[in-house]
Amino acid sequence: MGKGFNGFVLKALRADDYRLTVTGTRQISDHYLRLSFTGGGLLAAHPVHPTQWIRIWFPDGGENLVQRGYTLVDPDPAGDAFDIEFALHAGPASQWARDAAVGDVVDATVMGSKFAVPQPVPPEFVIFGDTASLPAINSLLEAIGETPARVWLEWQHESDRELPVRTGPKTEVSWVERAGDGQALRQVAESLTCAPDAFGWAACDAATTRAILKALKSRLPKENVAGRAYWK
Ligand SMILES: Cc1cc2nc3c(=O)[nH]c(=O)nc-3n(C[C@H](O)[C@H](O)[C@H](O)COP(=O)(O)OP(=O)(O)OC[C@H]3O[C@@H](n4cnc5c(N)ncnc54)[C@H](O)[C@@H]3O)c2cc1C
Repeated sequence: MGKGFNGFVLKALRADDYRLTVTGTRQISDHYLRLSFTGGGLLAAHPVHPTQWIRIWFPDGGENLVQRGYTLVDPDPAGDAFDIEFALHAGPASQWARDAAVGDVVDATVMGSKFAVPQPVPPEFVIFGDTASLPAINSLLEAIGETPARVWLEWQHESDRELPVRTGPKTEVSWVERAGDGQALRQVAESLTCAPDAFGWAACDAATTRAILKALKSRLPKENVAGRAYWK
């Protein structure tokens, strides 16, 4: 199956390709699935960092493959193993994950993932996301440990609010129901008060992410703000 123009560009940029093999599947909720993988050498070549993500190629139902971003959960470099958590909806990636069984393989490309917790560590993190970015947020919360963090998470299904958030002793989590295409979460960011040297991170749907990053950049130095659109 072909990877199309995106595959051509990534190859030209010499991005690394790997074949992942499913080693386990676990349903976390009615809309959330966790799969375990071996990485075909991926973790030997790419050091682990918080929010680390890869591009996975899924069959589009026809002749082609489409790429989607997914976050490494509990990466184990010694075992070249990691999990991926799929927020399930309609789409090739979600469908592939629903059907996945131990022994299935899927190709992945690594390019573009880069993040380090700023040093010195800021006094507070303000974090905006949803179930697609929860794996990244969990890795960020683990990395910052006892640093105070306020996290706002958008939910769409009742069961979303039961998903495990890896809180530290000074983490506050607020679940916000998705309404008006992300309007509720945007309003939180637009009325936010925080320390001038706090660190802001956001990853939601494209329009919501853009609005939240704009609100964060109006309060914080731009180097203290990070994030990206996770879905459209
Ligand atoms: C860096 C990065 C890391 C990511 N990590 C993860 C991760 O660890 N886990 C994860 O679940 N997702 C993650 N995502 C998001 C994931 O790539 C997208 O949700 C992707 O669109 C899913 O592909 P799909 O083929 O299932 O659906 P698509 O074909 O892209 O979309 C099908 C339909 O589903 C809707 N849709 C897509 N995503 C969502 C969503 N999250 N919520 C509600 N509706 C949606 C679309 O609007 C569309 O109507 C990440 C994205 C990026 C950029």
